[in-house]
Amino acid sequence: MVDLKSQYEKIKPEVDKGIQEVIDACAFINGPAVNGFQSEMEKYLGVKHVIPCANGTDALQVAMMALGLKPGDEVITVSFTFIATAEVIALLGLTPVLVDVDPDTFNISIDSLKKAITSKTKAIVPVHLFGQCADMEAIMEIAKEYNLFVIEDACQAIGADYIFKDGSRKKAGTIGHIGCTSFFPSKNLGCYGDGGAIFTNDDDLDKQMRVVVNHGMVVRYYHDYIGVNSRLDSIQAAILRVKLQHLDEYAKARNYAASYYSKAFANHPKIKTPHIANNSTHVFHQYTLVLNNVDRTALQNHMAAKEIPAMIYYPVPLHLQKAYIDPRYKSGDFPHTEALCASVISLPMHSELDDEQLKYITDSLLEFIN
Ligand SMILES: *Cc1c(COP(=O)(O)O)cnc(C)c1O
Repeated sequence: MVDLKSQYEKIKPEVDKGIQEVIDACAFINGPAVNGFQSEMEKYLGVKHVIPCANGTDALQVAMMALGLKPGDEVITVSFTFIATAEVIALLGLTPVLVDVDPDTFNISIDSLKKAITSKTKAIVPVHLFGQCADMEAIMEIAKEYNLFVIEDACQAIGADYIFKDGSRKKAGTIGHIGCTSFFPSKNLGCYGDGGAIFTNDDDLDKQMRVVVNHGMVVRYYHDYIGVNSRLDSIQAAILRVKLQHLDEYAKARNYAASYYSKAFANHPKIKTPHIANNSTHVFHQYTLVLNNVDRTALQNHMAAKEIPAMIYYPVPLHLQKAYIDPRYKSGDFPHTEALCASVISLPMHSELDDEQLKYITDSLLEFIN
């Protein structure tokens, strides 16, 4: 699905130099590489504070810990996402409230969101799925009306622009009270191990989250809160500093591949290509088709026989996952999510796809769905 090797080969001298500098300085924890990356990321995103941390799941957890949410507080998120989004809500003893998605953008349905709000609701976690922003303007209006926090799960959308009605833009993850991202290797800005970051424009939340990621410590060895240990490794920060400089160019290459795919599948009665909303740019973390009346497993096998990976993100909605079975939910509750889980398929998507590969992939798929 990704080609990290070819990408690395193009930036090898810069990456190797960055890693060597960390080793030479023996500045393994929170050294100049981490500080440098933090300020470069703040500048890139146009956000006041970036708090590096160990992974995207921690970013979400730290965000929720810093908001001081209490057991029983309800946090609304979507049923169509990676498990981490709901996992941290459950882990903290908060109540995950799941809602459906929009069938075109795959992002949180504003109607479902409105219906899910109760007197116990404290926060909304929109997920910018597959690289495109959720309807943040509508979400922020609802949050304001009901006095809720908004934590953006921007793990799949780093670098995407949200476009407001007045034409102004902000980077994914910088619109809500807090934004979270992941630097897992296959993410759009991936390091060579685990990594993550939290964004905020709020000085108090910034302070609190820096305390939470560092064992709840305010003054050295004085722990005012129960915190966690969540740091971005210095070697990973050195790699990310190099890759951040290429992030927009990588997004361009992903968009090129996406338009190649979408052109090849245009107007096919059995294939729905990704919808590009007018309130967001798309950074195509995934290129995901919705199939109509196609044997998906047989298609996957056909592609696998041609050595083309094709993955299902995600096969089971959160409300039907074993660990999250809850009497509040049953099969049929979120029709769009359930239909998508049964009909989506994602094709290889990364910055290194060339025309020859794209033609081979599209030809192979069309050979099966004719
Ligand atoms: C990857 C991902 C996460 C978790 O990130 P990790 O770095 O793997 O912990 C959370 N939410 C979404 C939507 C993701 O895609």
